[in-house]
Amino acid sequence: MRIVFNRSYLCCGCKRRVASADAAIAYRGCCICSDCYGRLDRVSPKSTFEAKGIVEFVSAAFYYTEMYRSIFLEYKFWDMEMYGHIIGIALREYFSSFSELGVYDFIAPVPLSSRRMKQRGFNQTDIFAQYISQAIDVPVRHCIKRVRDEMAQSTLSAVERAVNVRKAFSCSEDLSGMKILIVDDVFTTGNTMNECAKALCQAGAEKIGGAVAAYVYRKQNLNIPLPRVMSEKYRKHTVIYHKGT
Ligand SMILES: [Zn+2]
Repeated sequence: MRIVFNRSYLCCGCKRRVASADAAIAYRGCCICSDCYGRLDRVSPKSTFEAKGIVEFVSAAFYYTEMYRSIFLEYKFWDMEMYGHIIGIALREYFSSFSELGVYDFIAPVPLSSRRMKQRGFNQTDIFAQYISQAIDVPVRHCIKRVRDEMAQSTLSAVERAVNVRKAFSCSEDLSGMKILIVDDVFTTGNTMNECAKALCQAGAEKIGGAVAAYVYRKQNLNIPLPRVMSEKYRKHTVIYHKGT
């Protein structure tokens, strides 16, 4: 007699147990089911958004809308590390077609403060950086350091965010002439990424781009030229331009 195990996975979106055939991405006992995966708002392939300051652009795999947000918040604040791998696998899929990002010398993840690293036990951005690294074949280098523990950005207004992260990062390596892709979890105002970029440029970096898991649509991005390819839902609202066009 042959015993067949029907493996099931707990979906990080709807919290249902689903059979492996219904899991779009599975990692250990967790998955995202096909329904929930379909409800994630994806960014069109190879799209780039306007960033802030000296960061030339930011690319993102998802828009920060309801389904992504619910999974991400549990990942980040309830320490659901497995969810990070599920998002990470989705990022690897998205960025593997973005070969243009292969021109970067290395990926620099935005670091967590040591206090939050102790609380959480992992840096969510590190996990994303590893998967993006696999996708574009660019190594990860932890060259950005936090010089002080600021407050969590998510609790602050846009103006407070800008003040909060000012001079929060440093880099003590020689990065002369380097092209660096900064990886963060979510892009909201771009302040954090820009402050990291300043630290890297002070260390000699020449070109800075950004890649994030999710991009937050913001009102002030209205009325900027439309992208060439994008989802219908965001056609009226989102600012995207395409690299090299
Ligand atoms: Zn689901």
